[in-house]
Amino acid sequence: MVHAIEAYTSKLRKNAYSDMLACEALRLLSRHIVTAVEEGSNLEARQAMLHGAMLAGQAFANAPVAAVHALAYPLGGHYHIPHGLSNSLVLPHVLRFNLPVAVAEYAQLANVINPYARAKAMTLAEYFIEAMQTLIHAVKLPHNLRQMNIPQTDLAMLAKDAMLQQRLLMNNPRELHEADALAIYQAAY
Ligand SMILES: [Zn+2]
Repeated sequence: MVHAIEAYTSKLRKNAYSDMLACEALRLLSRHIVTAVEEGSNLEARQAMLHGAMLAGQAFANAPVAAVHALAYPLGGHYHIPHGLSNSLVLPHVLRFNLPVAVAEYAQLANVINPYARAKAMTLAEYFIEAMQTLIHAVKLPHNLRQMNIPQTDLAMLAKDAMLQQRLLMNNPRELHEADALAIYQAAY
């Protein structure tokens, strides 16, 4: 889902083709992830997850990922947190950071996960971020860095490390500096 979201808001290479792939990926993944987690033998849900993951991969091959991944990498590197989990730990906080410049895109993604939602763009965009946070809780993922036994004194080092991922940060819709990365880790703590 992060692959689809970041491809859809990729600053440098966002294009119509990656948008279509990202939207269909997010539609499939958002509808089936809870069932796939709760009923691991539900083949329809598992098939939709595989299909969605493949389309999301094609989306970010055409419009690269950004700050969620840049801040997730140090978590994987230092504490061996799996890729998907490290992304989800920072996802809601990076989305909130990006919100001022990504209202239209997040509102569009809100209508991908819920075609019936009708509201002003800012309300829809906030709904999208809330929905991602709700989903993290629904599938019972750890939802903060404290739960992962990361020392709070490491956050400054993580923020410094995240800045090494300029290849990803350059695709972020909003320019992100070391102080922003630190604030995001603190919010995620
Ligand atoms: Zn990834």
